[in-house]
Amino acid sequence: MKFIIFGAPGSGKGVYSTRLAPKLGIVAIATGEMFRNIAKDSSPLAVQIQEIMSRGALVPDDLTIELLKKELEKPEAQNGFILDGFPRTLDQAKALDSVAKIDAIFNINANRDIMIEKITARRTCNKCGEIYNIANIDKTIDGVHYTMPAMMSKVEGKCDKCGGDLVQRADAKPEVVEERLRVYEEQSKPVLDYFKDKVPTIEILANEAPDVVTEKTMEKIRAAGLDK
Ligand code: AMP
Repeated sequence: MKFIIFGAPGSGKGVYSTRLAPKLGIVAIATGEMFRNIAKDSSPLAVQIQEIMSRGALVPDDLTIELLKKELEKPEAQNGFILDGFPRTLDQAKALDSVAKIDAIFNINANRDIMIEKITARRTCNKCGEIYNIANIDKTIDGVHYTMPAMMSKVEGKCDKCGGDLVQRADAKPEVVEERLRVYEEQSKPVLDYFKDKVPTIEILANEAPDVVTEKTMEKIRAAGLDK
């Protein structure tokens, strides 16, 4: 099965795609993760991508589409995938349409204030990309209760999985987060509408601990017969 996971920055796309993918026997492919890896060295391309990401802007479509197509050709993607962070523009959506038939989309619904709180409290392993979060949220907004416990590592600042250092992403500064949310509203929301008309949508309400939300989402996926 081939899925796209949608959601604003900070809504938990990385958390849910990496939890859902193994349960579905498929891989999670995150373009943001791809770009963060490319941006690690000091090549001209790395410097160009660092500059774009540090502003909260989008990497040009031609480069993004080329990289994504290569990812989709890899043997591990042949069983199916969840795309996290792609497509983000209508041109990317059309390019994807030409190479893969998407079965359904997962759409994460999260409150804007909660997303901002979560995004600034997120810590990412600089080696394996595992995600942690130091915010402990327990409050009601507009009638919805949010119980989202912190996701801490056992040893402060160190990844449980690989021992790498936990760092705050360079694009987690408040002004960059605002820009990423603005870009999402302007360029990526239309992509969601484009797919909503074509394929089934599984709605994810991200207001509880990730394991609980993941299990509730799996129930919806099974009920829709999308787990085969
Ligand atoms: P993410 O981890 O998905 O929030 O992505 C982090 C950053 O990587 C974004 O703010 C963009 O600068 C870049 N990026 C990730 N995916 C894409 C994409 N599909 N198109 C363009 N830029 C992207």
